[in-house]
Amino acid sequence: MSVLIVYAHQSPNSFNAAVKDVAVKELEKQGFKVTVSDLYAMEFKATSTRQDINGELKSAELFRYGEEMEAAWRNDTLSNDIKQEQQKVQEADLIIFQFPLYWFSVPAIMKGWIDRVLIGGFAFSLEKMYDSGVFKDKKAMLSFTTGAMESMFRPEGINGDINVTLWPLQNGVLHFCGFQVLPPQIFWGPAHCPHTVRTAMLETWGQRLKGLMSETPLQFASSKLFDLSFQGGFCLHPEAKKERETHPYGITTGHHLGKPLPPDHQLRAPPGGAAGTH
Ligand SMILES: Cc1cc2nc3c(=O)[nH]c(=O)nc-3n(C[C@H](O)[C@H](O)[C@H](O)COP(=O)(O)OP(=O)(O)OC[C@H]3O[C@@H](n4cnc5c(N)ncnc54)[C@H](O)[C@@H]3O)c2cc1C
Repeated sequence: MSVLIVYAHQSPNSFNAAVKDVAVKELEKQGFKVTVSDLYAMEFKATSTRQDINGELKSAELFRYGEEMEAAWRNDTLSNDIKQEQQKVQEADLIIFQFPLYWFSVPAIMKGWIDRVLIGGFAFSLEKMYDSGVFKDKKAMLSFTTGAMESMFRPEGINGDINVTLWPLQNGVLHFCGFQVLPPQIFWGPAHCPHTVRTAMLETWGQRLKGLMSETPLQFASSKLFDLSFQGGFCLHPEAKKERETHPYGITTGHHLGKPLPPDHQLRAPPGGAAGTH
């Protein structure tokens, strides 16, 4: 079994580095092959540009990154740094994204990794997305630190519900590519708590890593609920919508149908599963 840690922090003395080191140590102890992509140390290029393609373009007149990258992936003309990361993704059974939360999201260098590595053809296609996604046999998870304390990311907190913050990355990136998404590991405000609390956080993380691969992934809306055609607009089947009318909550954080969000939907898998999800 192989684990890829895509890691974005500038300092080896940071709390993020400590979290990453605990993961490397614990996973190696369990016999995993662990690979770390240390994005800042690699000076990983964050921008999506023409330089990502070796050789001819399909259309030099109007450069369309998505189309050109998919063609380059098919023709094996992607730049070497992207090819190397794609090879690591292919070999991994689990990918852990380790980062400090920047503007409710990943740091730019990690967003660049997502944009440049998880490209059409390699990571998704119209036929291979969500439940049928390319990486449906792999797991992925977010592990991140915040500046904010936990209460600030509650529905009544000043930043709003963390479930909403997590939805674009966990659904829009990871689930879209088919990954089984493990519940996120969140380290709340490590810079603003006593050293003993930070040490305890690292210990909890080490304990969680022992059973990580047998955890139940988060649940997302099953693709079966949607009319996957252009005529149907890739929207919920009318029967699925009707069936949901009597439920107290929406289907997911994103597919809320104007109802209250299913509580902590992006933080943990509901016990026993929920109807209409997978
Ligand atoms: C551009 C930008 C945007 C941001 N946007 C957001 C946002 O949207 N929401 C939000 O909540 N926050 C945001 N932040 C804050 C950011 O998320 C936090 O600063 C970051 O998560 C803190 O993690 P760190 O690893 O950098 O902490 P560090 O400052 O590196 O570490 C915290 C403390 O842990 C100590 N430490 C290191 N190793 C260990 C160890 N082994 N054991 C115990 N202690 C140790 C360090 O010495 C330090 O005292 C943003 C920051 C920036 C720069």
